[in-house]
Amino acid sequence: MEPGVTAARPIQSNGPVALRIPGPRLGVMTWRFALMIEPAASDDSRADFTETFTVVDPAAPALSVGELSTQRGDGIFESIGVVDGHAQEVIPHLERLAHSAELCDLPVPHRFQWQQAVARAAAECPAGESVIKLILSRGIEHGPAPTAWVTATEAADFRAARTDGIRVVTLDRGLDSGAPERAPWLLLGAKTLSYAVNMAAIREARRREADDAIFVSSDGIVLEGPTSSVILRTGDRFTTPAPGAGILHGTTQLSLFARLEELGFETAYKSIPVAELERVDAAWLVSSVRLAAPIRSIDDRPLAVDATLTDDLNAYLLSPRD
Ligand code: PLP
Repeated sequence: MEPGVTAARPIQSNGPVALRIPGPRLGVMTWRFALMIEPAASDDSRADFTETFTVVDPAAPALSVGELSTQRGDGIFESIGVVDGHAQEVIPHLERLAHSAELCDLPVPHRFQWQQAVARAAAECPAGESVIKLILSRGIEHGPAPTAWVTATEAADFRAARTDGIRVVTLDRGLDSGAPERAPWLLLGAKTLSYAVNMAAIREARRREADDAIFVSSDGIVLEGPTSSVILRTGDRFTTPAPGAGILHGTTQLSLFARLEELGFETAYKSIPVAELERVDAAWLVSSVRLAAPIRSIDDRPLAVDATLTDDLNAYLLSPRD
């Protein structure tokens, strides 16, 4: 059980499905759902994968101590936003999961099996915002491999970040912009479970009295946030770092570019020197669960927040998207 957990009870009467658990915010009940998946081979032609899913008690131990995901962070994941029970952009997330699997030499996830697992988890999500996580681990050391599971829980409340904006600092990622091509084993474009560095960057941002960070290559090229993509606005032109630069191709950024084009704006992928951050009219960190967080300062330099456009973008991101 998690620290502080005193009791767990089913929120549905028909079995141990989703549990309401007193969460880290003392006294606040949160809920969680967990599903273990027996990964199917990519050529499995079954139409229904229900028998490969096992609902487990999210408050009980579920993983072996030999798990390579926990021992080495050796695995991949996706976080999908869910709004009123609708999982957003499932296919782009599954495509990125497959891409990460390929980069990490993991078996290719079976698209329909994972799609059905996401639908099963989404069916547990109540009204409001939730998050579904997909995890594919290398498996158990000297044992069966891989291990796969899906969880669902309520999303944190990001209203303040979406409306008031966030303060960010730029942080050197310590690698030059040639590293992704020169050293593909660094897995820079994969969404791996090894997020300790990303979490450390957010702690460093907080030490510098900011909310979040933008990674910059050692030769001064803008990359991404530790858990988000960067979008910049100059006049009516919106830009984002090219995904080939060793960053994740964000599903939210892709979706927002389509929306911005619909609104008549120009969009472009490009290599962005860090000095350009001083000249932009507005900027956002965007991701699947926090959505579009306008940046109100970069390295203590204030930046205007376009509340009307940001509200429009977040309303779009909160509408059902496939
Ligand atoms: N870049 C990194 C490093 C991330 O971890 C994430 C999301 O978690 C993103 C970008 C944004 O991706 P998405 O919009 O698909 O959530």
